[in-house]
Amino acid sequence: MSKVLAVNCGSSSLKFQLFEMDTESVITSGIIERIGMEDSIFTIKYNGTKDKKVFAVPTHKEAVQVLLDTLIEKKIVEHLDEIKGIGHRVVQGGPYFDGSCVVDDDVIAKIDELSPLAPLHNPAHIIGIKAFKEAIPTAGAVVVFDTAFHHSIKPENAVYPIPYKFYEENKIRKYGAHGTSHYYVSKRTQELLGNPEHANIIVCHLGAGASLCAVKDGKSIDTSMGLTPLAGVMMATRSGDIDASVVDHLIENLGYDMKTVFKMLNKESGLLGVSGVSGDMRDIIDAKDAGNQRAELAFNIFRKRVADYIGSYFVELGHVDAISFTAGIGENSFIAREAIIDLIKEALGIVLDDKANVEGHGERLISAPESKIKVFVIPTDEELVIARDTKELLNL
Ligand code: ADP
Repeated sequence: MSKVLAVNCGSSSLKFQLFEMDTESVITSGIIERIGMEDSIFTIKYNGTKDKKVFAVPTHKEAVQVLLDTLIEKKIVEHLDEIKGIGHRVVQGGPYFDGSCVVDDDVIAKIDELSPLAPLHNPAHIIGIKAFKEAIPTAGAVVVFDTAFHHSIKPENAVYPIPYKFYEENKIRKYGAHGTSHYYVSKRTQELLGNPEHANIIVCHLGAGASLCAVKDGKSIDTSMGLTPLAGVMMATRSGDIDASVVDHLIENLGYDMKTVFKMLNKESGLLGVSGVSGDMRDIIDAKDAGNQRAELAFNIFRKRVADYIGSYFVELGHVDAISFTAGIGENSFIAREAIIDLIKEALGIVLDDKANVEGHGERLISAPESKIKVFVIPTDEELVIARDTKELLNL
């Protein structure tokens, strides 16, 4: 029996899932949010129950201790050394990592070096890695990078058309994100297609953060996020692609400073910025149905931008076997899926199975037999990929 903990340390949160790897079952899962505040929130699910407590968790180190103490208190584990491996999600692996790897000093130094590309995340990951190592010295540690799956993207899709020295000397290029999710969903799609020798798949990961990925024979060949997750489609509060001159205009002519502009592009744009209502797709759909025109505009920009990327990946792939929807919006909103497909169905010969799209649940095919491209809904499972990689790399 080997237990593996999949961990995701964000700038102010720590998400976790403890797996029994023999059966790949989740023993417990939860999140500590608002780390560093007086009213941090600790939520843990175990044995069909959900506990929520609010108290001060000042640092990530204390968050790790709170979690481990709770595992013992609730008798979820008898001894901490039952946990043989910790798998850490890392947002930015830059040019260095094309797959998961066991943590050593060099790996930590590289994650640290890449912090300017993920200033909120990479430092938090390092704190998490060190805190778990101190708390459970017997457990091995593995890092799983959000960027690794996109390492196969060729230079013509990754290099920005700015002076080449910035790519060569400063490592400025497209790295993408959501790689673990795109890998899991494209692999499941390939399995559902019957594991053909060749398969071209477009994955639409549409959550609060959203990105698309073109996958050819199991490899990412293009993705919509860029140097950072700000690029690509419109998201809950991120703008996605815009003309870089907008930034110059806001600063030079409208008097904003750079920090404010980037906060605006990351936290106050997207669905929220256009609608003025919310960044949550459920609220946008409700508001639009109630006649709110800006919510309708926000919804229409969102679907259009996703459809544009699908169209461009279709052209790039030459032919597409399947389009798969995943994450909060992709898995749960039949309205968003239908609205996106509606924009491309004529060009790509897609026919949805309305009953499967609207009434079905969980992993399923939602296209009709006559559709030229199969369309799937596939709930993503990044934590399972992290736990599997951890088990494999530590030989558990
Ligand atoms: P992230 O991991 O990027 O934070 P998720 O993948 O959890 O995001 O997706 C969260 C988003 O999914 C919510 O903000 C909401 O917009 C959307 N969502 C969840 N359920 C539904 C639903 N039933 N209909 C429409 N949108 C939904």
